[in-house]
Amino acid sequence: MSSSTVVRNVRPMRKDACDIHIVDGQIIEIGANISAPDGATVINGENCLLFPGFVDAHAHMDKTLIGLPWHRHDVGPSLLDKITHERDLRREKGIDSYAQSSKLARIAIAAGTTHIRTFVDIDTDWKLAGFEGVLRTREDFKDSLDIQIVAFPQSGMLVRPGTVELMEEALRNGAEVVGGLDPSTIDRDPVKHLDVIFDLAAKHDADVDVHLHEPGDLGAFSVELIAERTKALGYQGRVVISHAICLGGVDDAYLSRLIEMLLENDIAIMSHGPSGLRPVPSVKRLRDAGVRMCSGNDGIRDAWGPLNMPDMLLRAFLIAYRNNFRRDDEIEMTLDIVTYGGADVMGDESYGLSPGCAADFVLVSGENHVEAVIDRPVRSLVVKKGRVVARDGECLV
Ligand SMILES: [Zn+2]
Repeated sequence: MSSSTVVRNVRPMRKDACDIHIVDGQIIEIGANISAPDGATVINGENCLLFPGFVDAHAHMDKTLIGLPWHRHDVGPSLLDKITHERDLRREKGIDSYAQSSKLARIAIAAGTTHIRTFVDIDTDWKLAGFEGVLRTREDFKDSLDIQIVAFPQSGMLVRPGTVELMEEALRNGAEVVGGLDPSTIDRDPVKHLDVIFDLAAKHDADVDVHLHEPGDLGAFSVELIAERTKALGYQGRVVISHAICLGGVDDAYLSRLIEMLLENDIAIMSHGPSGLRPVPSVKRLRDAGVRMCSGNDGIRDAWGPLNMPDMLLRAFLIAYRNNFRRDDEIEMTLDIVTYGGADVMGDESYGLSPGCAADFVLVSGENHVEAVIDRPVRSLVVKKGRVVARDGECLV
């Protein structure tokens, strides 16, 4: 028997209040004064703001320390310091990625997140333990949170023989995306690193998402290599460069050429806002040029630091803050990035608030959507595939 729900009196961004009619997890109608069929569940939306489900398009669910005793951060400043420290910590604490990613999933759902793209570390120490834990979490939460898995060589790939084979195993067993990492500074061979990543992607029909923290011209060189390979493989629309801080550190003429390359090859950029004290890509410049963008909370309370929180409204605020956005239309842009932008990168064609879309949405009280970015009210209701999965900030699954 089909299930029917009508949610009454909610306000989409810059539109009049409306009702939503959901049948079997799908929005079939959205508009004023929808009549509820016999037997339908009716939910009073209480004139709340309506958002499509939030999309965290860059997470590290496998290694969060959330819910564990406070970890005192005292690691050295370099990337390698952090990577080595993390591997040691994981061994010492025996981090259970299934338990940890499950905890994070519940907190994210309570904050209105309906989709997560998560990287999982794959290395010759931890092997597939992180991947397998997140895979179990994905199965447990399959009706309440879409989780997409990136096979990610956090400790380097060419410098640790055996890593590629483990990544392949993950791709054969449910990872959908191949991750890369600073091809010059970690593997110290950008051409080979990217060739291997793109070969793996082609072989397994997987998308590509490369962490790129390399600054200035060095990072820009990696962007060029990524664009070349995207073109050669016909991978337009399937590649993300995460962080891409080099786009904030090259001269204007070079930036224009890089943006042309991104557009020509339909490469998306993930920016999570702060990126420490380093220059960051100008979100407005990229968006105005037409570059697709998404965002994510990155690591939550892990060996890298304690500052990130699993709340995409806060992420929208941080992007706005870092980019000095003050106008409503600019802050609305950050909302688009943490919703539609992320869903687009994750390839969810059923995403949105139109008839035919999956019923994934969030209600919060407040005057308008921009104010919600500033106030970040408790999420009154979170609906995933037509089912209430969180209410008043509490996860129900
Ligand atoms: Zn990351």
